Amino acid sequence: IGPSPHVSVDGPVLIIGSTGFIGRFITDSCLDSGRPTYLLIRSGLTSHFKATIINSFQEKGAITLHGSMDDKDLVEKVLRERKIEIVISAVGGKNILDQLILVQAIKAVGTIKRFLASEFGHDIDRADPVEPGLTMYNEKRKVRRAIEKAGIPYTYICCNSIAAWPYHDNTHPADVLPPLDHFHIYGDGTVKAYFVAGTDIGKFTIKSMDDIRTVNKSVHFRPPSNFLNINELASLWEQKIGRTLPRVTITEDDLLHAAREMRIPESIVASFTHDIFIKGCQINFSIEEPEDVDLSSLYPDARFMTIDECFNDFVRNLVENPKLFKQASGNNNGSIIMPPTNQEAL
Ligand code: NDP
Repeated sequence: IGPSPHVSVDGPVLIIGSTGFIGRFITDSCLDSGRPTYLLIRSGLTSHFKATIINSFQEKGAITLHGSMDDKDLVEKVLRERKIEIVISAVGGKNILDQLILVQAIKAVGTIKRFLASEFGHDIDRADPVEPGLTMYNEKRKVRRAIEKAGIPYTYICCNSIAAWPYHDNTHPADVLPPLDHFHIYGDGTVKAYFVAGTDIGKFTIKSMDDIRTVNKSVHFRPPSNFLNINELASLWEQKIGRTLPRVTITEDDLLHAAREMRIPESIVASFTHDIFIKGCQINFSIEEPEDVDLSSLYPDARFMTIDECFNDFVRNLVENPKLFKQASGNNNGSIIMPPTNQEAL
């Protein structure tokens, strides 16, 4: 590994996947950082939701370009003409291999100083989920190897779980409320995991993307304040909503069965849930290899949003959008009682 190419403080960034679940947080943080931010957006049918997101990014200064990541000529043109220094991809599970064309374009241009591929989860060279999650990891591994072979400076963001209730069948758990009827507890509920707020995934991705210490490294997000098992997560949520909920055990076999059903994407999430909460894939290795770096050691003063604060946000949503509550609880009688202390705190 050679010396890090210097990334200028105002070097333009190209983000692919900005309208997605994880991409939205990254784009927001990139725009907040004041860097020139280009967004590559696929043409075609645009939902009202997506149009609203794009508008809000444009209002914050984003420059939108239309096209697909798998159009090599177009991407090369964009990279050259806009003098892009950093490329961030946050494409979803279905499009991981499209990044191989992006890698070719970045290599052909030869001036990109850092590439962040669509990772944003586990260290995929270490985690070992059953199928169908394994296929996605094999695709992500293929992209890693292509980047390394091309000699492109990279950073792999291993941010672990997004702060939310870890439903075993939902790819975007932070978009819905934690349970209001019963909890699914995986195994005995004692295996711990790291939960990181979406806003912090965005913030610390942007903070570390041009740090000389993160070139050709995996950056691990392991905030000690957000290291919980699912029993602890359930108790915390019960405190927030002011009542206890029944706990239903989902055994290892149940998760493996859900994975084997091959319902995509739900079965992929079931295989990751098994890897996290049964096998402990976030905690069964130490990050001492030269290619690893712990975000908290890079930025000792970095403050992560706590799970407690994240859950307060969910409660706020619940209070402000009772319809969400009704959907999540499957109960329309509004019988939930918020403890006065919590309501005051909100
Ligand atoms: P989404 O499916 O929500 O969004 C994908 C985005 O990529 C969309 O904006 C989509 O645009 C865009 N896109 C896809 N293909 C192309 C293309 N060829 N050219 C341009 N844009 C394209 O993805 P997620 O946010 O769910 O996933 C992103 C990453 O985060 C993945 O690696 C995933 O594994 C990881 N992840 C991590 C989680 C965690 O808890 N740590 C949770 C969820 C995801 P369009 O609107 O046109 O389709």
